[in-house]
Amino acid sequence: MLTISKADYDLIRWEAERSYPQECCGILLGQTADRNRTVTLTIPCENVRLDAPERTYSIDPQQVIAALKLARSRGENIVGFYHSHPDHVAHYSATDLTEAHWFDCSYLITGVVKGSAIETESLDRKKRRILSWKRSTSGPRGPETLRYNPVWTAIGQVKPWFRIQPSCCSL
Ligand SMILES: [Zn+2]
Repeated sequence: MLTISKADYDLIRWEAERSYPQECCGILLGQTADRNRTVTLTIPCENVRLDAPERTYSIDPQQVIAALKLARSRGENIVGFYHSHPDHVAHYSATDLTEAHWFDCSYLITGVVKGSAIETESLDRKKRRILSWKRSTSGPRGPETLRYNPVWTAIGQVKPWFRIQPSCCSL
């Protein structure tokens, strides 16, 4: 399970649209309890792929290390990564599967069609699952549930995520 605030969710999707027709990418910091991850900070990163940034992405390793240091300083960890698929659905590519190296992380993908974000999916990819999936024909495991945090508003009321305007979010 991945829990993410509406504000972070919107940021990820906005990044996907802003970067179109190239892929966006970024890092999610947060906390993990059992197998439940809660995103506390979204860090947009530069896609440093120069060969084909419209269908691949790479995060500068120095940015990953900086994010890890920041997470440690907050008593947290890297709990996920996100990227986008310009003019493609939010399904895992073979490259996505083979490059999902981090244990205990969620991998979010946002499909973008003609500059507009469509679906955003999140999958839990442990290395052994990736390998077992590649050997089988059963297909990848289903998407995780994206659960939104209720957000305290400036006036102190908890409202469902879909009723929160970004300008009044207090995260
Ligand atoms: Zn991908």
